[in-house]
Amino acid sequence: MDLFNKCYEFTRADEVKAMGVYPYFRPIEENEGPVVQIEGRKIVMAGSNNYLGLTAHPKVKEAALEAVRKYGTGCSGSRYLTGTLDLHIELEERLAKFFGSEAVLLYSTGYQTAQGIIPTLVQGKSEYVVSDRDNHACIVAGQIMAKGLTANLERYKHNDMEDLERVLSKLPIDAPKLIVSDGVFSTGGEIVELPKLVELAKKYNARTLIDDAHAVGVIGKGGRGTASEFNLEKDVDLTMGTFSKTFASLGGFVAGPERVINYLKHFSSALIFSASPTPAAVAAALAALNILEEEPWRVEKLISNANKVRTELKAAGFNVLEGRTAIVPVIVGSDPLAFQMWRKLYDNGVFVNVFISPGVPQGRQMMRTSYMSTHEDEHLDYIINTFKKVGKELGLI
Ligand code: PMP
Repeated sequence: MDLFNKCYEFTRADEVKAMGVYPYFRPIEENEGPVVQIEGRKIVMAGSNNYLGLTAHPKVKEAALEAVRKYGTGCSGSRYLTGTLDLHIELEERLAKFFGSEAVLLYSTGYQTAQGIIPTLVQGKSEYVVSDRDNHACIVAGQIMAKGLTANLERYKHNDMEDLERVLSKLPIDAPKLIVSDGVFSTGGEIVELPKLVELAKKYNARTLIDDAHAVGVIGKGGRGTASEFNLEKDVDLTMGTFSKTFASLGGFVAGPERVINYLKHFSSALIFSASPTPAAVAAALAALNILEEEPWRVEKLISNANKVRTELKAAGFNVLEGRTAIVPVIVGSDPLAFQMWRKLYDNGVFVNVFISPGVPQGRQMMRTSYMSTHEDEHLDYIINTFKKVGKELGLI
């Protein structure tokens, strides 16, 4: 048997392409706002994580350009060695202040951040990662690494605090544990049951890590994320996030106690053996943070935009998941229907993300739509009306 056989036998993507409904890897030619250009056509974007629309903000762009002029295009080294700029320190200090945490450490992506934290902190035979079953893939990758280093992995039913307690109550009380959860889940957009989670963490001797990739700039006071949403800033041990969404850039971060951040700085493989975020990426994130702090109305606008679509699609008869974040998932229920719906929306000028099985369970196939504070009513109305038109054509409403 040849290792590559599986690659030659994987034909599903080709089949979907042949049917003309393949939604992935579509090159975007212009990306200046809620209307993008793909295949020469203007399309309303309803699937981006550019929540505050800041990738197109003049101040953010200018900050990136200025950083290139001052520091060049790359750092060519890891933070540990030659890759630390004063700009990295400035962003870490600003974020620590923003979150009210002792310290912050930057990583080069959000994905690497989870991989950098989890196996560094949890690796001993007597240590446990306790993880929500629906956590993001980067957390899954981090926990697999932890397991590979002899730690134990326990998973609980999605956002089910009774199940979390069932799992925790079986573990030795003295054993060190890390409970990990998305703050806002990336597929369904629901918010973690944080008050109960932190209560259980205290009861069962566990530390907590919350992935706020879809929460910062979206929920909490002034967009300060999940802990802030519940007034539990002092009760969450570690918060991680990304610059690839609200912060209009690329990179990741973790906020927490100074001694823990210091430990990660000296033992986290994903940090030490990978080049630091580029000057442009850091400067863009800093500029986006300035805007988030100075213009909190953008967060309110984002949520009112998402709520408008959620309410109107529901009223039209779509199966829309409840929520109050920027993510509005519309369930369609099968792979073929999902691909067909995507194509029709695309042909009618609306771009959404298609989630099919096994990425989501059978029956939960969805158009995962998400909103930006830069969507105007005309964009939202266009999205809503196009959904209604296509939904009727497909017999969904
Ligand atoms: N965590 C969550 C919950 C995410 O949704 C994502 C990105 N989709 C990441 C982490 C990874 O972030 P990045 O894009 O910076 O690698």
